[in-house]
Amino acid sequence: MFDKILIANRGEIALRIQRACREMGIKTVAVHSTADADAMHVRLADESVCIGPAASKDSYLNIPAILSAAEITGAEAIHPGYGFLSENADFAAMVEEHGFVFIGPTAEHIRMMGDKITAKQTAEKLGIPCVPGSDGEIATVDEARKCAKEIGYPVLIKASGGGGGRGMKVVEREEDLAEAFSMTRKEALQNFGNAAVYMEKYLGKPRHIELQVIGDSHGNAVHLFERDCSLQRRHQKVLEEAPSPTLTPEERERIGSTVANAMIGMGYRNAGTIEFLYENGEFYFIEMNTRLQVEHPVTEMISGVDLVREQIRVAAGLELSFKQEDLEIHGHAIECRINAEDPKTFVPSPGKIKEYHAPGGLGVRVDSGIYTGYSIPPYYDSMIAKLIVHGRDREECMMRLRRALAEYAIGGIKTTIPLHQTLLANPDIQKGDYDIHWLEKFMGMKKTL
Ligand code: ADP
Repeated sequence: MFDKILIANRGEIALRIQRACREMGIKTVAVHSTADADAMHVRLADESVCIGPAASKDSYLNIPAILSAAEITGAEAIHPGYGFLSENADFAAMVEEHGFVFIGPTAEHIRMMGDKITAKQTAEKLGIPCVPGSDGEIATVDEARKCAKEIGYPVLIKASGGGGGRGMKVVEREEDLAEAFSMTRKEALQNFGNAAVYMEKYLGKPRHIELQVIGDSHGNAVHLFERDCSLQRRHQKVLEEAPSPTLTPEERERIGSTVANAMIGMGYRNAGTIEFLYENGEFYFIEMNTRLQVEHPVTEMISGVDLVREQIRVAAGLELSFKQEDLEIHGHAIECRINAEDPKTFVPSPGKIKEYHAPGGLGVRVDSGIYTGYSIPPYYDSMIAKLIVHGRDREECMMRLRRALAEYAIGGIKTTIPLHQTLLANPDIQKGDYDIHWLEKFMGMKKTL
């Protein structure tokens, strides 16, 4: 096992990884920008290295500075967390070339899944169900017309290099196709440096259901059930739950074994998530994230598995510590992402936290690096905490979550806690009856897709 791990990230996820390391007796190295010198992930690490100024491109994305920090501190492995360099195949390759272990999948798998056309073709080959659409890239308007006629309107034109919910256009009628096609290509080239686009059937009322997977370097891979992340705003997840309130045990078993077999087929190592849209009892693959996800705690709460510990173990060359048949769902878990934002307009609200009291009690977990007197810097993502609650069933979980939200005090800045309270009081949410457009409709926002 490793003696020392460098964590190339900040905030709650850096702390989350530190916790797993500490339990395993592994020393930690934090890296930070000048804006994060007082951050909790720096205070709690065994060692820390300043890797540059506030802007992410000069610090948390600064590959030479991160590799140098690993070198001078004698770290053996690097955990990238999520965001920043976590899905950068070149970074993963460089980490290994410099003699460190990358705690994640191979650079080849990251690259394969980072390009949406290749990802979809790979998924299809592995027997994962995909959204009906074009066979790879669509290069001309004529091809686009032909394909759209075959799959039926409305269709979605998507950029192969797209990400973060950008690079997609819905086309309702044939007369709008030519313009949407050339616009998406042009924007894709501008934003992602890759003009390639492809086409999919546009699904009207899907849910976003994703499966957690993990594999080792001995040919084993398992799934850890699903998470339902349909409550989204501008394709950003707001609240996640596991298991999904909508799946039957048979559907869960069917998609779970398909996905686990696919991971065994591709020899996937470390943690990953296969994202699907789910409509009328069918699953449609949309993408694979080759990293740990923000919402991984809901899976940990229902499965009892420490995903970060398992990531570290498989990166060190050990076998997974459990088999598929050892895994069971226990109860229900919900995560609320708490952002430093106005709960109605979502305008960021950085600044000093004047008062802080986190909720506790049975089944309540708070993953956060904030504290009284901490100043939230304006340079990074506005998510400042995750409140994750577990109950024996969905009803108990919601009851406990309402109590925990009421107890949570964060003074001095605006947060999205009131939004979560409104959501939990809503009958649709209480019944689990929502799709990916529900939240935007509820907030009276224009549909973003
Ligand atoms: P990104 O990498 O930008 O997140 P995804 O392919 O994961 O792109 O899609 C992001 C979101 O766009 C999905 O969660 C869903 O809300 C919507 N979306 C993607 N594909 C489709 C589709 N075929 N039909 C309807 N909505 C879609």
